[in-house]
Amino acid sequence: MFTTINGVSLQPYFKFSILSFMTAILLFFTLHWFLSLFFHSFFLHRYASHQMYTAKPFVEKIIYFLTWFVQGSSFLVPRAYAVMHRMHHAYSDTEKDPHSPHFFKDIWHMMMHTARIFSGFVTGKNIPDAEFTKEYLPVWDKLDKFGHNNITRAFFVVGYIAFYYFFAPNPWWYLLLPIHFFIGPIQGAVVNWFGHKMGYRNYNIEDHSKNTTPWGVLLMGELFQNNHHKDKDNANFARKWYEFDLTFFIMRILHVLHIIRLKPVHLPQQQQQQHRQ
Ligand SMILES: [Zn+2]
Ligand SMILES: [Zn+2]
Repeated sequence: MFTTINGVSLQPYFKFSILSFMTAILLFFTLHWFLSLFFHSFFLHRYASHQMYTAKPFVEKIIYFLTWFVQGSSFLVPRAYAVMHRMHHAYSDTEKDPHSPHFFKDIWHMMMHTARIFSGFVTGKNIPDAEFTKEYLPVWDKLDKFGHNNITRAFFVVGYIAFYYFFAPNPWWYLLLPIHFFIGPIQGAVVNWFGHKMGYRNYNIEDHSKNTTPWGVLLMGELFQNNHHKDKDNANFARKWYEFDLTFFIMRILHVLHIIRLKPVHLPQQQQQQHRQ
């Protein structure tokens, strides 16, 4: 082993480089996790599905583009996502719900079922009921086609593998790669499974939606499903003092910066009044 040169041990440097490579992987993983999740929640969920804020057309395009870029290989076409999500609210935890955990033996089967419905909406094989398309749906045909293309998706996959190839200190780290490949659907499945199966309830509503705190913060507010199903138009998914909705916190900042405009119903009362004047 080359652990010494002229009697000087190289071990500290060797250890240092392993540590910095490990940091690069962890940083990449964390960034990819939270950026994908943020745009999933902020754009696909709270804008495409629920229109909780408005944005100028070019701002919408920038957010749309960033959603595609951060979801990369597992980009979820917004119009298909939104239609499916509107169905989820209309039929929550009934047989017509596209992804209720109460009708599947495990999360994998739920994911596969969801993927089939989703892909039907993307290809046009499934035509959604008119009630789910009557509200605005953001569509960017060129980007949808480009992002949904297998070659584009493969480029992202190769990019993730290349990053790990250069920075992973050992092959065990490659086990994280499938999470990068399928990050959008994985985050959706975690929310849909655990958010309707485990946790506590603030509201006794008809479905099985639940809330999770404090580690639900890792899902940026999305695991407050019970709060969200109680009042689906409220942009803030947190209700109690111990609940924190990080996505909404960022949305408030973007609102103050005039990048987006939260609909008045989501603002504190004083601001609602100013808005009306
Ligand atoms: Zn739900
Ligand atoms: Zn929703």
